[in-house]
Amino acid sequence: MSETHTSEHTYDLFVIGGGINGCGIARDAAGRGMSVALAEMNDLASATSSASTKLFHGGLRYLEYFEINLVRHALAEREVLLKAMPHISWPMRFVLPYHKDMRFEGATPTSRILNTVMPWMKGRRPAWLIRFGLMLYDNLGGRKILPATKTLALRGSPEGAPIDDRFKKAFEYSDCWIEDSRLVVLNARDAAARGADIMVRTKVVSATRIDDHWEVTLEDVENAQTTTLNARMLVNAGGPWVGDIIQQKVRINSTEGVRLVRGSHIVTKKLYDHEKCYFFQGTDGRIIFAIPYETDFTLIGTTDAEHSEPGVKPECTSEEQSYLIDFINQYLKEDIGSSDVVWTYSGVRPLYDDGASSATAATRDYTLNVDSTGGAPILNVFGGKITTYRKLAEDAMDKIVPFFPGTSGHWTAGVALPGGDFAVDGFDALVARLRDDYPFLSDFWSKRLVRAYGTEAWDVLADAKEEADLGEGFGATLTEREVRWLEKHEYARSAEDIVWRRNKLGLRLTEKEIAALEVFLRSDPNGQTSKAAE
Ligand SMILES: Cc1cc2nc3c(=O)[nH]c(=O)nc-3n(C[C@H](O)[C@H](O)[C@H](O)COP(=O)(O)OP(=O)(O)OC[C@H]3O[C@@H](n4cnc5c(N)ncnc54)[C@H](O)[C@@H]3O)c2cc1C
Repeated sequence: MSETHTSEHTYDLFVIGGGINGCGIARDAAGRGMSVALAEMNDLASATSSASTKLFHGGLRYLEYFEINLVRHALAEREVLLKAMPHISWPMRFVLPYHKDMRFEGATPTSRILNTVMPWMKGRRPAWLIRFGLMLYDNLGGRKILPATKTLALRGSPEGAPIDDRFKKAFEYSDCWIEDSRLVVLNARDAAARGADIMVRTKVVSATRIDDHWEVTLEDVENAQTTTLNARMLVNAGGPWVGDIIQQKVRINSTEGVRLVRGSHIVTKKLYDHEKCYFFQGTDGRIIFAIPYETDFTLIGTTDAEHSEPGVKPECTSEEQSYLIDFINQYLKEDIGSSDVVWTYSGVRPLYDDGASSATAATRDYTLNVDSTGGAPILNVFGGKITTYRKLAEDAMDKIVPFFPGTSGHWTAGVALPGGDFAVDGFDALVARLRDDYPFLSDFWSKRLVRAYGTEAWDVLADAKEEADLGEGFGATLTEREVRWLEKHEYARSAEDIVWRRNKLGLRLTEKEIAALEVFLRSDPNGQTSKAAE
């Protein structure tokens, strides 16, 4: 049996879970001068936070559920976030094709009212209602950077080109894209830069209240080594495992839980030639998106399916694939089939269990609860969206600060994440500068680096004068120097961490190339990052 190491240091805050909510809270707390540690049992963002639709959005469809507060907060947050990370987030236009005969079987509060006051519509949504919803969406959260909603004639337009001819009209509105897994890593890095200890491949196996503090036992999942350390307060940001942590690891009395709702996406080769997204409404009352993805691909999703337990790895089932293909084929001029699917991914939404009848109807808002009965406090995080992570962290800190008198107030709004210290519309200029300084970079390569690292692209490339200076090439512009950067500064350990979460080069690399990268990483243990970023 391996020996347990005990650390004498007592942290103020110990965060369980390296998804967006855990990393966002760790960053906020560290920036206020608290001593913070975070443990993630796998890779950062290895669970839900890398499997989202990747939108900073208000959630147009939540208006139908009258979730006005959620929508308002999320809408307001879009531009705050955009300004702090213009490399990994950017504005997107969404095209919503409309046809007056489209019928929906939705059981949303809006559908029920429509069925009562306008029974002759028989499930059809009138154009004025959609226009009204979009007008609300435009104005609820304030908007300075993002352009307003407009009506679009589809015939003869680039937006109409891939769409079935029966759709003549569409509405167009704004939301933003976000590279979800990079958002998590940048929050973790910023937390570390402000003093937090970030531990990956480190599982919390138990936490015991001892009067005014917690004794937390951790297991290094790579070598089974255990460590104990102390913290004055715990944050349970375990996402789908939040209930497991309450019941199995911390063992406190709580009746609250999450509802696990799986969502899957499919990726195809690029289906159309413009940069806008589509918002498609289905006859079942659900919606899906088709989004330009990674330059040469289209991302389509998502589904809503009950998921049994967090330990079961979510995967896009063949039923979910068929559902998404059939859904999008109702809109496309040229049908797609399963042979067009080049990749799928799936994640589990940890939704606060509000007793809603269907997975689609369950609230997407978050709930934060502190339990301090019997001594040291624990904050449990239920639900939440990528879009509201910064606000969630601020609200979490409002609940944490009373236990740490003298701690300073809100600070994260408007503070750039690593590499994000440039103008919201400064992407093209930054790419041009990078290409001036490193003339050997191709268009694709330079854009990829600026999207991933922003102003830190220069730190990644350092003194390279030509491609050969960047060391071994792994394919698709991934080089040894970048891989070493990811190990040293971004907590990457495996090929999967790198090609599916630090970037999406997995879409372009062959299995053999990915295997060669794995061999490279394993063959040089000195390349392994320490648990804290240097
Ligand atoms: C299909 C889908 C689409 C979505 N689309 C969007 C979208 O477009 N926009 C948006 O705003 N939101 C979206 N969301 C919601 C968003 O992705 C989630 O709300 C968010 O990622 C949840 O983050 P989290 O940190 O709570 O959970 P997670 O990312 O799951 O993180 C929890 C972490 O805790 C770790 N952990 C658990 N137990 C332990 C332990 N004992 N010790 C150590 N670590 C532990 C896990 O390994 C995991 O990494 C979507 C969600 C899904 C599923």
